[in-house]
Amino acid sequence: MISDKMATLVKNSSVIRAMFEEGKKMAAEFGRENVYDFSLGNPSVQPPKAVTDAIVEVAYDPDMNYVHGYMSNVGFDEVRDKIAASINKRFGTAFTKGNIVMTVGAAGGMNVIFKVLLNPGDEVITFSPFFGEYRNYVSNFDGKLIELAPNTETFQPNVDALEESITPRTKALIVNSPNNPTGVVYSRETLNKIAAILEKKQKELGTSIYIVSDEPYRELAYDGVEVPYIPQIYRNTIVGYSFSKSLSLPGDRIGYLAIPSEIDDFDDVFAAAGVATRILGFVNAPSLAQLFVSKCLDEKVDLDIYNRNRELLYNSLRKYGYECIKPEGAFYLFVKALEPDDKAFAAKAKEKRLLLVPGSTFGCAGYVRIAYCVDYDMILRSLPAFEALAAEY
Ligand code: PLP
Repeated sequence: MISDKMATLVKNSSVIRAMFEEGKKMAAEFGRENVYDFSLGNPSVQPPKAVTDAIVEVAYDPDMNYVHGYMSNVGFDEVRDKIAASINKRFGTAFTKGNIVMTVGAAGGMNVIFKVLLNPGDEVITFSPFFGEYRNYVSNFDGKLIELAPNTETFQPNVDALEESITPRTKALIVNSPNNPTGVVYSRETLNKIAAILEKKQKELGTSIYIVSDEPYRELAYDGVEVPYIPQIYRNTIVGYSFSKSLSLPGDRIGYLAIPSEIDDFDDVFAAAGVATRILGFVNAPSLAQLFVSKCLDEKVDLDIYNRNRELLYNSLRKYGYECIKPEGAFYLFVKALEPDDKAFAAKAKEKRLLLVPGSTFGCAGYVRIAYCVDYDMILRSLPAFEALAAEY
């Protein structure tokens, strides 16, 4: 008999993953060319050549004990040194390896940090719409996710709702910009407002409220938009970074937590992050991936490819009458469903072999998410289906 908690989780298992599986089935039935799968945020752009070169180089390193052995739970010293130096160069911070914990992607990093911070019943706030897995990352440690209502005008976070949602049990606020599912980049002005509210409430309540900045899409920003570095805006910020999207390596499972020395209880948080990495069963982030990404910190995937997809899909959907904010980052469009029930709308889209994820998965009913990290040609082939779908309403 599995646990009651797992039984519930299995029953409500990821809608996105289910659609991905469904897409594979449909492709077998109708042919891959005739199914337009926009469900999963799986990068479609090749990792830079430097990454493949670095993988080969590391794989042939004869120092077997170094490359494949156990290590400190927080990761290789020299990898963390290089990452700290790279962040300092970009953002003028003063990190050392003592601020970096290597993680099993952003998901691993968030599980580590919530293991570190949460007592049962502690609250973590998130702005809707949000990456649905946050529900699990928080409930894994018996925390409570507080979802703030979306601001559907701009999809900037609903700052007005923040202050009254903070209680003595509030441990953290998750910020995710560029955002999944909207592609919106939170402005410096908005982040300043959030910081001011958190500072005020910390003082009033005598607690520490951390921002957990979930940043897998940091490098995916278009038209030169600024993606502010939140530790420079709010002292109690912990950054969860991932190479899954920035270098197109989601299966390699590699990222890091940057934990600034200035945060409250830094020594305890850092030490606990190492222990959490070990006892959650990660032990350490994959050694090969640590070593090869550390050789590629200045590399970028070809953003023009995503940008071309963004322009084609956004302009076409607008032409067919869909409503949508033009995303400034990530690789998602968050489109208003053409009927109030987003699940019914996604089901209708599926009849046209368009796989779109209902917005309710992201805490925002009435919308659907379209992941445009796909082949340009697939988008072109899908356009008549989007047009026909709009014509039905
Ligand atoms: N956070 C957000 C907002 C995401 O969209 C994703 C993956 O899609 C993750 C975290 C998990 O990323 P990773 O593959 O680095 O664990």
